[in-house]
Amino acid sequence: MGNKVVKFGGSSLADANQFRKVAAIISSDPDRKYVVPSAPGKRFSDDIKITDMLYKCAELAGSGMDFSEPFHAVKERYNGIISDLGINMNLDDEFASIAAELKKRPAKDFAASRGEYLNGKVLANYLGYNFVDAADVIIFDTKGSLLLDKTVDAVREKLKGLDNAVIPGFYGRTTEGFIKTFSRGGSDVTGSIIANAVRAEIYENWTDVSGFLVADPRIVENPDVIEVITYRELRELAYMGASVLHEDAIFPVRSAGIPINIRNTNRPEDAGTMIVPGDHDFKRESIAHTITGIAGRKGFSTINIEKAMMNAETGFGMKVLKVLYDNGLSFEHMPSGIDTMSITLDTAKLEPVREKVIAQMRREVAPDHIEIEDGIALLAIVGRRMKNTRGTVARIFAAMAHARINVKMIDQGSSELNVIIGVSEHDLPEAIRRIYEMFINSEKE
Ligand code: ASP
Repeated sequence: MGNKVVKFGGSSLADANQFRKVAAIISSDPDRKYVVPSAPGKRFSDDIKITDMLYKCAELAGSGMDFSEPFHAVKERYNGIISDLGINMNLDDEFASIAAELKKRPAKDFAASRGEYLNGKVLANYLGYNFVDAADVIIFDTKGSLLLDKTVDAVREKLKGLDNAVIPGFYGRTTEGFIKTFSRGGSDVTGSIIANAVRAEIYENWTDVSGFLVADPRIVENPDVIEVITYRELRELAYMGASVLHEDAIFPVRSAGIPINIRNTNRPEDAGTMIVPGDHDFKRESIAHTITGIAGRKGFSTINIEKAMMNAETGFGMKVLKVLYDNGLSFEHMPSGIDTMSITLDTAKLEPVREKVIAQMRREVAPDHIEIEDGIALLAIVGRRMKNTRGTVARIFAAMAHARINVKMIDQGSSELNVIIGVSEHDLPEAIRRIYEMFINSEKE
């Protein structure tokens, strides 16, 4: 028998009806042995997440104020779920001890962690699974960094002999014994760690979308779901702002070669997106497009430098980079011509040191011309198959030319996994639509 780790996000456990869907998903596959829940999330768009209510309690308690109102709302949510599910359990003692602790020591992390802790208790009871407190197995050092090896040992020790377990997401304990959480959305990380520790065959991450989309649905109408994506491709797209998964959830599973499957609790029949370690496992893919995904980000500037005979000047690039380094700036891309160089960087980071950087560049490299252009958007076209497909860049240019979009910069990484182009911010949505049309829609025809 295999073993799967299944993580359910806040919207998947927002009310009793969602709990029922979750239980049906778990019971439909006996391999779904280890379950990592988030705290109850939003039931409707202006609802408040349990985690946010608990932060509010800690904030009020921290300034010596009465926190009974938000705390009452928290109790109501859990009591409502328990009574709607018709299970025989009572959390009154838990509520009382949480309130007492908050009065004594109103720690933010402790407060927030109780959302997952209580939800884990309810879910374990409903499923008839063992409850394992994350404070006993997820271990941080005193500065709050995860101790992965110690954690893996503790998880294995605790799960030894258990057929199943619910392990709440988002928190653990420091070596000094204090409750510590990951950053927001951190239940994804817990699930990934548990999957690593039990050497799961797969880490299923159940949420409210049927996987990653090829492009942002606010820009492209009804985009396709990405069926299979590699970890490396995901990193390229995530960097450009496409996000479904917590960034720190990648390492524990990736390093153990475990795939992640993003699934939709509300549409369990959808296959979702499979995130795979290597370039070999694409069996399940029905249509293999040249590209996997497109993502874009606004808010970049380019510093354009021109100098005659730049190519012959030893150390030119080094001096330019030193100016950036001296001003604490990192850059995104630096394509260069014979006598020109342009450096793309984050406008917000450049802003405070803008004049200084220009002045220093003038002193260091005496350019013939230097200027900053703002309002640049970068667009990443990502796809592991581009390497073996000819003419990809030509098609990108053709798509842009037809739309009369000026490509200001192009950069293809040596891995040929992605092509980055720079366009004006106002051209970004149309550029994405045209690339989608060129590589996804037309390849279907
Ligand atoms: N409940 C936490 C949050 O809202 C953690 C999580 O859901 O993963 O951020």
